[in-house]
Amino acid sequence: METDFQTVEQAKSNIQALLKGIVGTRTVAIRDALDQVLAADVLSPIHVPAHDNSAMDGYAFNGAAINPAGMTQLALVGTAYAGRKYEGTVKSGECIRIMTGAVMPEGCDTVVVQENVTVQGDQIHFAPGAVKAGDNRRLKGEDLTQGKPALRAGRILRPADLGLLASLGIPEIQVMRKLRVAFFSTGDELRSLGQVLDEGCVYDSNRYTLYGMLTRLRFVDLIDMGVVHDSPESLEAAMNNAADQADVIITSGGVSVGEADFTKDVMQKLGSVNFWKIAMRPGRPMAFGHITNPNTGNAAFLFGLPGNPVAVMVTFYAFVRDALFKLAGANPTAVPLVKAQLASNVRKRPGRTEFQRVRLERQGSTTVAHLTGAQGSGILRSMSESDGIMVLAHDLGDLQAGSEVEVLPFEGLI
Ligand code: AMP
Ligand code: MG
Repeated sequence: METDFQTVEQAKSNIQALLKGIVGTRTVAIRDALDQVLAADVLSPIHVPAHDNSAMDGYAFNGAAINPAGMTQLALVGTAYAGRKYEGTVKSGECIRIMTGAVMPEGCDTVVVQENVTVQGDQIHFAPGAVKAGDNRRLKGEDLTQGKPALRAGRILRPADLGLLASLGIPEIQVMRKLRVAFFSTGDELRSLGQVLDEGCVYDSNRYTLYGMLTRLRFVDLIDMGVVHDSPESLEAAMNNAADQADVIITSGGVSVGEADFTKDVMQKLGSVNFWKIAMRPGRPMAFGHITNPNTGNAAFLFGLPGNPVAVMVTFYAFVRDALFKLAGANPTAVPLVKAQLASNVRKRPGRTEFQRVRLERQGSTTVAHLTGAQGSGILRSMSESDGIMVLAHDLGDLQAGSEVEVLPFEGLI
């Protein structure tokens, strides 16, 4: 099916509308949950902290005793350590020495820090303004309240989340099973590493770039299916094999108009795949849909990316990454765009979104974007030298040096 040009935004929403997330879950130790997708809300089984406790090393007392006009004098009656509480009650006019994290004893709501206090035998005194009632006390449940969600389903767990789970005493957690992604390259001109580069041939680089981008998504299991040659039989066998093993199939090459290969025919034969022309550069042709192995009934979503090495990366970041998040059961996470100033004039044709590769340089408080040489969609060096992709919106025309632009930084894409 050949459709007219659509914008990048239309293509994104067309893809998102068709996706259905995986459902399987697994239980893992929290260390193994790093970068995985949380499968269910985690309710806090306890209050954190479990008791009111001191935020500082100092002296705990009842704040009502503070003398706003002169020195406050208190009798020192004991000590509370972290993990070893003071068992008695502290009466008005008394205080105890208290360490950070120690439980606030009965009768105390305030901690004056030790630096602001003079100790004389079993008496302490401090000046007005040294402390206000209620200072330096951490309240029971102020970090996490018992019974309330501490983490929400769909979250990709980060280092802080592992710590948070540990702080709740939770050793294991339910995460989504990994999303299985099969990928292969198509094209008779492709040679694998270790093979002789015959005349007119190129090494298959897309599989390595895809491997790298997919590996960074640690909720994905990869199935590398190598190079598949342009024959209907081998393509069909590869597609069926991929549909049996994977939730998602990513191919590169063979989707442009007028291709002499059979990718399109095979994709259409096995399922419902749309061949899109997207108003973008690079990455104009792309296929998206799903296929089913007729022998087994196993289905998979399919992304047919263009063959050009830069276009593969651009379409991956523009469309596939977000789709994989959704399929894996993860909440969408917006990648923060960096605002930068163009170092030089840039040509841009209105009516398509352009993704140009830039190096970012900090100059004081501004970030300056330099184009990384020739921007041809086959020139992988421009990608390798860049720190991110400058996204020039559909309607924009030529841009002057100094204009503000938005850059999708590679760091942060996981
Ligand atoms: P295609 O989309 O199949 O028309 O390919 C467009 C261009 O990308 C051609 O110059 C191909 O040789 C090149 N190309 C396709 N697949 C790969 C690949 N896996 N690795 C490197 N270059 C490729
Ligand atoms: Mg090809």
